[in-house]
Amino acid sequence: MHPCRRMTRGPGSLLLAASAAAVLAAPAAARAVDADGDGDGQAMLERVRTLSAEELQGRGNGTAAALAAADTIERWFAAAGLAPPPGCAQRFSDFALGGQGLDGRPARNVLGWSPGRGALVDELVVIGAHYDHLGPALGPDGATVAGFYPGAEDNASGVAVMVELARRLHADATATDRCAILFAAFAGEEVGLQGAAAALRAVPLSGRRVRLMLNLDSVGRLRGDRLYVGGLGSSPRLRPLVQDVNRAHGLVLELSDGGWDASDHVAFNAAGIPVLFLFTGAHPQYHSVADRWELVEPRGLARVADFARDLAAAVVTTADDFPYATQAALPSAGGERGQTRAWLGTIPDFVENAGGVKLSGVMPGSPAEEAGLAAGDVLVAMEGSVVADLAGLSALLQAHGAGETVTVTVERDGGRRDFAVTLRARPR
Ligand SMILES: [Zn+2]
Repeated sequence: MHPCRRMTRGPGSLLLAASAAAVLAAPAAARAVDADGDGDGQAMLERVRTLSAEELQGRGNGTAAALAAADTIERWFAAAGLAPPPGCAQRFSDFALGGQGLDGRPARNVLGWSPGRGALVDELVVIGAHYDHLGPALGPDGATVAGFYPGAEDNASGVAVMVELARRLHADATATDRCAILFAAFAGEEVGLQGAAAALRAVPLSGRRVRLMLNLDSVGRLRGDRLYVGGLGSSPRLRPLVQDVNRAHGLVLELSDGGWDASDHVAFNAAGIPVLFLFTGAHPQYHSVADRWELVEPRGLARVADFARDLAAAVVTTADDFPYATQAALPSAGGERGQTRAWLGTIPDFVENAGGVKLSGVMPGSPAEEAGLAAGDVLVAMEGSVVADLAGLSALLQAHGAGETVTVTVERDGGRRDFAVTLRARPR
């Protein structure tokens, strides 16, 4: 078996061929920006626009559009000077999707390599972001296609910042000793982190030690300079390092040992790899057709990219390793964000130690809104079971199904109130 898996000339590669042609029509502006090396927020916003454009139809897993998006990202990696990983002839690694009516459909991780040098030449750091999203939107009949999910914030923004990091870190020859960096654009995140899992099983990662994985998921809505950094509990060196790097940036960091959210770093953490996760927080447009590029902040993208560049540079040039710390499992794929069957519709505030889940809002038209939950509430129990944090809420939601009415207890104005909430299936 060729180490770097690429689908044989089956239906998948016909799909692949068709996709390449479709993308060549992509807006010229985006390519031009990359070609002239302009690395600011506007250039990143152009990448967000390209990935969330109608041509790419929401980059649904198993679709030609998702493969077309992979072609675009591969060209951005090439323009940044990244090589195919060792043992691979291409900047691709293909795999077959599983489950959810996707069995056997082709998917593609895009991989770009920046070699290490000096004393750290054999050390490896992974910088990743998923590019897949929800694809076409179905109409009220649940059958006809009525639009698509642009996924500008989730996660065209993460890919745009990752490409920017690739451009800057690969071009930076100042450090004598530097780890190798694998830049990875994952497919399959929205369907259970399948791309991250496939990448861990394939060349160049299989059987290789990874010093750390930095994950960027939904980093385009910076508000009040507040950035969430998760995964700090996966190595004792991470929290002081992050705080040190932030001295020059002055971001309002919300630090967490856990991960807040089930994204690709969860698969790497489960494989015993220290992780860092960057995220700008939840918002009402999450996983909706309203998650459009116009809401993505170019200035915020630039702030996040500047911080992430310095963070990554510190990680890939420090002589000391990052000892892995086993900790409570990060939220598993699923939970309020993933494939839970029951939907509540709360928007967590993600502040830690709230003694429950503090709400920054509720989704319009959601069960939570209809029941009367509101921003500022601290959700402390469901059906009498204590809700200590987001992971706890996700676990409790998994135990209930759509159509069930549950009693939710919140702290509000110094007192506790119960609300009867009828859970629903997450709208598609
Ligand atoms: Zn995402």
